[in-house]
Amino acid sequence: MAAAGFYVIGDNNEPDLVECFICGKQLDGWEAHDDPWNEHVKHQSSCPFVKLNKQDESEWTVHEMYELYKKYEIKKYVSLSTCELYVSFNYQYICFIFTS
Ligand SMILES: [Zn+2]
Repeated sequence: MAAAGFYVIGDNNEPDLVECFICGKQLDGWEAHDDPWNEHVKHQSSCPFVKLNKQDESEWTVHEMYELYKKYEIKKYVSLSTCELYVSFNYQYICFIFTS
């Protein structure tokens, strides 16, 4: 599961709920025959980690790791409250609110 980019966020109600560390895609309802990487590709082909297509981090270049780290930092500041997206910039946080 971790090699496919997922970590467990589930609770007693959804014990198999996992989330991608980069794109934030959440999946649950896992079947015994499911392949986590194939499910990630199927449900979130635009994920930067999926696009990199290197599950083994020892194969990452420094540039690839840095690009993923930037995506990870941005995801960390995505908020469910007022701001839809926080981005850190020069030690300050910028709040983005998207309108349609
Ligand atoms: Zn992902």
